[in-house]
Amino acid sequence: MSSTWSVLPLAALLLSAGCAARGPRATVTPAPAASSREAATAATFERLRNDPVLRRVFLRDMPKGGDLHVHVSGAIYAETFARWAVDDGLCVDAARLAFTRPPCDAPLVPASRLVTDDDLYDRIIDALSMRNWHPARNSGHSQFFDSFSKFSAATRGRMGDMLAAITSRAAAQRLSYVELMYPVDDNVARRMAAQVPWTGDMASMREALLAAGMREALQQARRTLDATEARHRELLKCATPQADAGCAVTVRYQLPALRASSPGEVFTQFLSGFEMATLDSRVVAVNIAQPEDGLVARRDFRLHMDMLDYLHAQYPRVGIALHAGELIEGLVPPEDLRFHIRSSIERGHARRIGHGAAVMHEDGALDLLRTMAAERILVEVALSSSDGILGLRGAQHPLKTYLAFGVPVALSTDDEGVSRSSITREYERAVEEHGLDYPTLKAMARASLQYGFVEAPEKERLLREFDAAIAAFETAWASVPRP
Ligand SMILES: [Zn+2]
Repeated sequence: MSSTWSVLPLAALLLSAGCAARGPRATVTPAPAASSREAATAATFERLRNDPVLRRVFLRDMPKGGDLHVHVSGAIYAETFARWAVDDGLCVDAARLAFTRPPCDAPLVPASRLVTDDDLYDRIIDALSMRNWHPARNSGHSQFFDSFSKFSAATRGRMGDMLAAITSRAAAQRLSYVELMYPVDDNVARRMAAQVPWTGDMASMREALLAAGMREALQQARRTLDATEARHRELLKCATPQADAGCAVTVRYQLPALRASSPGEVFTQFLSGFEMATLDSRVVAVNIAQPEDGLVARRDFRLHMDMLDYLHAQYPRVGIALHAGELIEGLVPPEDLRFHIRSSIERGHARRIGHGAAVMHEDGALDLLRTMAAERILVEVALSSSDGILGLRGAQHPLKTYLAFGVPVALSTDDEGVSRSSITREYERAVEEHGLDYPTLKAMARASLQYGFVEAPEKERLLREFDAAIAAFETAWASVPRP
């Protein structure tokens, strides 16, 4: 375990978090002054930081604000997919360890086999997640990303169910806000991309896609989202005396473009995201997903940033968060490590960076870190994900470097189902691997609300409730006896 993290960067973080952030919906309410109650809680935490039992209870019960980086299907545990596969009459490809749609012709077997075949059940849970993963079998990168295609058949028609699973777990881990990535446009972009061939002329492409009926199609997608949210409320018994705590979690959506797609498809996905966010206040941002090291992702990286530069000018109020620097030396040629984060900010207009794990490889890294601190660009750090996919852990991860430079940071789960993690586990890792202290954890939790793309009045409400919840938490923990 590393030494306790200095409180100096925290002071910088709190101070700078009070500055007005630039860009869309980035208003920030200053944190209340540190109190003696906070100091007493921080002292309690120092006493129990080496006690994994009480420390776990502390971190689970601590109000943690928002989770800003969540892929919907990646957040679902494999056991849940297995249950849905049985209920929905899916098949299991026992060789590939994947779910498929029926008919279950040999060698496929009905998913109902999972109820009685413990060995198959265990193997499929392992295949759909990082559980029992070992580097001797395959890379963490392959295991992680391949799992999505293996469970995707089980996500069909289950969007409201996935939402319920995510918000219920979020509430149990004391999160009050989540930003979820999924095709909230009901795949309008995927369908329309084939109608308008890519020409490279973005203005005419946009006009052609709008003329082809994108906005009308997105109105239908909004109704699909209404139905999804209705299913979520039904499952959690919202507005009844038995309501699950997940009903109280505020949910907003991001639409991620898939960076391995063709240029026309990526442009159409981005446009769909900006348009959807303009039409529907529940959709707050665009993002970009899929492995950053893929052939097309690398080849078209600058083109994707050019698209965002153009579209940001058309839709300046829509939030942009981008996966960038989810890389490690050796995964890609050195040249690819040198510019993705800076380009995502300067050309892609990202107000938040997902992962940012390769920041030390960027050209002018120190200048970039100072710019991110000055411009209030938040980094969404997902420690379990970066460990699983990149093998990046402990002091190799730049979390403390970001904090030392005063760059805003929020812990996030990314894909807690695949990673077999939780937001509490992410906080635990920040303590175990980086030695963070309580005031720093608290500042990151508050930052996860301050830098959310949620509209200002709701953000103010979330921050007020967070401050009240933290005060109650600190009162409860300020005087916990030494075990
Ligand atoms: Zn991600």
